[in-house]
Amino acid sequence: MAGIEESEELRQAGERPDTTAGCDIVIAGGGYVGLSTALAIATAAPHLKVTVYDAAPIEALSGDTRASAIAAAAVRMLGSLGIWDRLAPLAQPINEMIVTDSRLADAVRPVYLTFEGEKGDGPFAHMLANRDLVGALRDKALERGVELVNGDRVSDFERGEAGIRVTLASGAVRNARLLVAADGVRSALRELAGIRTVHWPYDQMGIVVTVRHEREHGGRAEEHFLPAGPFAILPLKGNRSSLVWTERTADAKRLLAMDDFMFALELERRFGHRLGEIEAEGPRKAFPLGLTLARDYVQDRFALVGDAAHGIHPIAGQGLNLGFKDAAALAQTVVEADRLGLDFGSKTVLERYERWRRFDTVRMGVTTDVLNRLFSNDLAPVRAARDFGLSLVDRLPRLKRAFIGHAAGFDSHAPRLLSGEAI
Ligand SMILES: Cc1cc2nc3c(=O)[nH]c(=O)nc-3n(C[C@H](O)[C@H](O)[C@H](O)COP(=O)(O)OP(=O)(O)OC[C@H]3O[C@@H](n4cnc5c(N)ncnc54)[C@H](O)[C@@H]3O)c2cc1C
Repeated sequence: MAGIEESEELRQAGERPDTTAGCDIVIAGGGYVGLSTALAIATAAPHLKVTVYDAAPIEALSGDTRASAIAAAAVRMLGSLGIWDRLAPLAQPINEMIVTDSRLADAVRPVYLTFEGEKGDGPFAHMLANRDLVGALRDKALERGVELVNGDRVSDFERGEAGIRVTLASGAVRNARLLVAADGVRSALRELAGIRTVHWPYDQMGIVVTVRHEREHGGRAEEHFLPAGPFAILPLKGNRSSLVWTERTADAKRLLAMDDFMFALELERRFGHRLGEIEAEGPRKAFPLGLTLARDYVQDRFALVGDAAHGIHPIAGQGLNLGFKDAAALAQTVVEADRLGLDFGSKTVLERYERWRRFDTVRMGVTTDVLNRLFSNDLAPVRAARDFGLSLVDRLPRLKRAFIGHAAGFDSHAPRLLSGEAI
């Protein structure tokens, strides 16, 4: 197949490149979800040729300073895919979590709920830098024969009887049996396919920033419910934490525009002094928050995965974990159909994937929506009711265990990779 350099050369020569050499699956989007889908398929069915295109240049990866909470079930999947051994030393286990509910000016933040992850089958989640995760997925995918092309975006596609013709922005063309759209929450391919969404914006942004602090965090995560939205402190390796800080859109923009001194003061008001002196490290970034649920996940020769299918509020840190489940379910659907000699790109086969994933993602979307509405406000009766609810959960060990199991991503209908098994 033609890399970007070759297609550019051909374009300059005035020819339209046609790079149709035997490709079975084209994946648009080389974030964690696109890459894990590719790796899962290539691991279970090495004879299938998988190509991943990502619009961003490879250099963009080193500029990604974000980190994500990886649930225990997703850790099992990364183990089955052969990359957890490499990632484990870089990952910070979350051993404990506390939940508070207060106003910004309150002197004390009462703790209403505590989770101790180490009392089950190990930590319910690990924090991992995005670039470490994407780097490991990329290296393993290349080792297993996946073709990775950066700096070129899928710009169009056209379905035929037995395949799909995929056009790249560079002018290159690929013929495949299936196009997987893993192109993020504002998926242009979902639009091109004419798939409608249920969408509502929250008038909130998630500010993401890393802080260095004087004292050790001991693997403790904190979720502080403040009137503007949750302020999450998530432990990283060393004396560092990743913050996901929700604010109303106008306030978030004001915070982003502040000089370092003023920003540090606002940060300290929310972070507190438990971990000693703190200092923001690296750039602050903000992401508009909303709920986006695609009405369909599949069409003939076309499937949506990850945020392209469902963008949810980060209040429960579950977006990426839903994406891993999609990747595992789609890979299992494709590979099992292929083993039976079926056409894995046909809508009938792909509908199995849609049925498998839709309920779980809609349920999580609705749950995060309700939690966000319940906690991002300062109404006294709502506050009293939610604090009573939190304290009740804290006193009921079985309910608490159920919550931990949910946060860990364990689910009896999960695809095989999530249970640590091969497809
Ligand atoms: C503030 C915030 C904090 C979060 N924290 C967590 C957390 O702690 N845990 C968790 O589980 N989730 C978290 N999430 C959610 C998580 O980040 C997303 O669910 C996840 O990034 C989705 O991955 P994805 O691969 O589907 O999409 P993306 O990560 O958005 O990747 C899409 C990729 O597609 C590429 N692309 C776009 N268009 C094209 C095209 N036409 N052709 C080719 N390539 C294309 C882009 O360059 C990009 O690399 C958080 C989200 C936010 C906003």
